[in-house]
Amino acid sequence: MKTSVTGPVRVRFAPSPTGFLHVGGARTAIYNELLRENLGGSFILRIEDTDAQRSDAAMIEQICSGLRWIGVQWDEGPFLQSDGLERHQQAAQQLLEQGKAFRCFRTSEEIEAARSQAQAKGETLRYRDFFAPPSADEEAQRLAAKEPFVVRFRCSDDSLHFSDLVRGEVEFPAGSLDDFVILRSDGSPTYHLSVVCDDVEMRVTHVIRGDDHLSNTPKHVDLFRALGAPVPVFVHLPLILGSDKKRLSKRTGATSVEEFRDQGFLPQALYNALGLLGWSPGGDREIMSRKEMVELFTVERINSSAAIFDRDKLSWLNAQYMSSLSLEEVAKYASPFLAPLGLDGLEGESRQRLMAALELHRSRAKTLEELGPMLVPYFQEELVYVVESCQKFLSQESLPGHLEALAARFAALEEFSPEALEQELRQLSEAVEVKAGVLIHPTRMALTASKKGPSLFELVATMGREATGRHLANFVGFLGREGSS
Ligand code: GLU
Repeated sequence: MKTSVTGPVRVRFAPSPTGFLHVGGARTAIYNELLRENLGGSFILRIEDTDAQRSDAAMIEQICSGLRWIGVQWDEGPFLQSDGLERHQQAAQQLLEQGKAFRCFRTSEEIEAARSQAQAKGETLRYRDFFAPPSADEEAQRLAAKEPFVVRFRCSDDSLHFSDLVRGEVEFPAGSLDDFVILRSDGSPTYHLSVVCDDVEMRVTHVIRGDDHLSNTPKHVDLFRALGAPVPVFVHLPLILGSDKKRLSKRTGATSVEEFRDQGFLPQALYNALGLLGWSPGGDREIMSRKEMVELFTVERINSSAAIFDRDKLSWLNAQYMSSLSLEEVAKYASPFLAPLGLDGLEGESRQRLMAALELHRSRAKTLEELGPMLVPYFQEELVYVVESCQKFLSQESLPGHLEALAARFAALEEFSPEALEQELRQLSEAVEVKAGVLIHPTRMALTASKKGPSLFELVATMGREATGRHLANFVGFLGREGSS
C-alpha cells in the first residue's frame, strides 16, 4: 500500500551515543526503515556524537550492533556528526556574514541577572527583547580585546509552520523563538546547528524522530530557511510510555534493545512489538513480520497519542516467534544462552539431541533464557531432585520397584520411539494395576527434575536410551535414600 507521501525519500536515524540503544530509538529507526522500504530511497545512519565526552567507538558499535540485531538495515553511514564540525562552523560563519547571526559577548552572569529581573516581574527572559546585538564598533573592540563570545542565531519574528505527517500543519506563533546559540564560546557548534547542517548536507527529505524534539523543530525550520535550504517534512512520533503511564524508564523494567536481547527475547518479536507501537495497519492484527509491515506501512496510520509499551504483550509475541521461526533460527539466537550451560559446540549425536530437545521445548518457553535450563537434563550426568517436590512419590512404597520395571522395559525396547515407549508404560501399568499417571508423573520428575514439561513419551524418546536409564536409576536411588530416612 502506498501513502500519499511520495518518494524516493532520504531519511535518517540520528541517535546520540548514550551507551545503549533505547527502545524508543529503535522504534524511530524502524519507522525510518519502513518509510524507506515503502517509498524507496535511502536511509542514513548518523551518530550525533558532538558531545565528545560521551561518545566513543564502542558506543557507536553498540548502536550499530543493536540495530543489526533487531534487523534494521540502513543504506548510508554510520556517519559521525563530529566529522562535519568544520562544515557546521562554516555555516555559522555564513550566517554571521549575512547578518542572520551575531556574536554575543554577554557573560553568563549578565544573562543570569537579566533572568532574575524578568522572573521578579513574573516573566521569562527573552534574550532578544533584553539585549541588543553589539554595534559594529563594540564588536570590533571586544574582538580585539579577545573577549569570549557565543554566536546566536537571529531568529525570525514571524510565526513558524511546518508539515508534520502525524500532527498535520503545525504552527508556532510569532515571537515564540528567541535568539538561540549556534556556536559555543569554544567555537563548537550546538545540536541545533549541527542537526540542521547535516540534514541539509545529507538532503534529508523526512525527519522522523520522537516528539520530545517537537519544541526544537521551529528553531530548525528557521535555520533551514536562513541557510536557503528546503525544509524537510517532519514525522514526530508519539512518546512511549511504560505500563505506569509514565515515560518509559527503568522503573518498569528494561528500556534498551540490549537488555531485551540479554533477557532472551527474539529480535523478530521486539521488531514486531516496536513496529506496532504507535502504528497499526488497521484491524487487530498483533503478529506481523518485518516483511508484512513493509508491505502495509503507511505513515498516515501513525497515532498521535502516546503508546504504551506492554511487556506482557512482548512476552506473548516472543512465545509466538519461539514456536513459529525455523528451528535453526531459534537455535542461533539460543546459542548465547546455551553456552554458559555448557551446551554450545555440540556435535554429531549430541547436536541432534540438542536440536530435538529444542524443538520439543521451544513452545513451552516464553524466552530463550527460560528455554536454556529446560535442555540441561538431556546432557547432565545426574539431576538434583528436591525432596519437597517429590513428597508424593516418596510416600509410595511400591514406586521404586515399578520404575525399575519400567526402566528394564524401556532398555529392552528395540525401537526407542514415543509410540513404543507409551505402549510399554501402559502395559506395565495394567500389569501392576496402577493408573498410567502413577508411572508418568514420577518418570517425568526422574528425567527432568521438574513436574511440568512436554508429552512424556516424546520427552523420553528425545532423551534417548542411555540418559533415560541413567536418570531413572538415579531417581530410584533417590527415592530409596529419602524414602527410608
Ligand atoms: N540526536 C537526537 C537524539 O538522540 C536526535 C535528533 C534528531 O533526530 O533530529 O535524540
